Amino acid sequence: MQELYIKVPGVAETSYRIAIGSGLLPSVWSAAEAAFPKHKKFIVTDENVVAAGHLSKLLHGRDASTYVIHPAGEQSKNIDTVVAIVEAMERAYLGRDTLVMALGGGTVGDIAGFAAAIFKRGVPVVQIPTTTLAQADSAIGGKTGVDSSISKNAFGAFWHPAAVFIDVATLQTQDERQYRAGLVESVKHGLIASEEYFEFIESHLDAILERDVNTLEVVARYNCSIKGRVVEEDPLEKNKRRILNYGHTVGHAVEAASDYALLHGEAIAIGIVAAGLIEVERGLSEPGRLDRIRTALEKLGVPVKLPPNLAEDKITDVMKHDKKAVDQWPRFVLIGRLGQVHCENGQYAVPVGRDVVEKVLELMIDNG
Ligand code: NAD
Repeated sequence: MQELYIKVPGVAETSYRIAIGSGLLPSVWSAAEAAFPKHKKFIVTDENVVAAGHLSKLLHGRDASTYVIHPAGEQSKNIDTVVAIVEAMERAYLGRDTLVMALGGGTVGDIAGFAAAIFKRGVPVVQIPTTTLAQADSAIGGKTGVDSSISKNAFGAFWHPAAVFIDVATLQTQDERQYRAGLVESVKHGLIASEEYFEFIESHLDAILERDVNTLEVVARYNCSIKGRVVEEDPLEKNKRRILNYGHTVGHAVEAASDYALLHGEAIAIGIVAAGLIEVERGLSEPGRLDRIRTALEKLGVPVKLPPNLAEDKITDVMKHDKKAVDQWPRFVLIGRLGQVHCENGQYAVPVGRDVVEKVLELMIDNG
């Protein structure tokens, strides 16, 4: 098992523990018990995670108050589910001495983290991520929240986990398409922060796709230390944390324009290639870099071209609503050297002309 410590912003002496291993789920309860001996445990999970056998591994014969989200996935990531969870906790006579345990993918982590943030003005949450996306990204960093009927993550809070337990063996049961799409965030981490990590992914893609647990532990370790470091430096996303949005400006727009037919990671793969083409236009790309990135993404089986049915103007229209837009046009995170984000005047999200973006989108249309 490997361990990392992440500092909680604003409370310099406090950090949280991330434990990474294969098959550690049955020991998580005792570890949580040791860290929070006086707290009553309340588990939030979803129906698919239960069906995959992970809840019973976590409980290991114990009995615990549990809320199972149904249906699983984004359609339940709303305020009604949070209200139902809070009321279930009240019905179980739980108080501020409660530890919420979030067992599942990013939707479970976001929902349970937000419920923990607001239950009786905040109780601790431990994140136990079970998808490639959640293990690489959402379980670390303290962003929690749910969607409104109008936009994603409209309700939310920064609520850092009290601990994170990553059992890479849980990924064995993840659906193949979801598994592959979630790995795009790992590729992103390599591109923005570590050439060494990108090279590791390139050279271990077969093992990663075969879900070799030893390789997945290394992947998790890189992801947590890269994301953890960035979050430590800029917890509230004033500047540096924006580098985690690499590929997300076009990616989010493509995801929304596809009416969420594309999975998040699939849309981000398209966004990463778009960022790569912008880098070529801006003279920021090293020779052969974009081809290497495309090859890695293609091997993951995620799209690297724009589906022809996605109208370009629909994508640029969504981009005008980007949360980082200035004068209705978003800023872009670009990489300078592989593993290093380009910075202009101290800013990591930089302006790119609309004409350049339109040209790049044109180049990306899949003409078969
Ligand atoms: P998800 O949680 O919906 O999980 C995808 C599907 O896989 C679900 O049906 C789930 O039930 C199932 N599942 C989960 N683990 C499984 C396992 N081990 N075996 C079998 N099935 C399993 O989706 P996700 O991709 O993990 O997360 C997406 C969410 O994460 C989005 O809501 C996104 O906004 C959020 N997110 C949050 C952050 C953050 O910083 N908080 C960052 C990135 C994404």
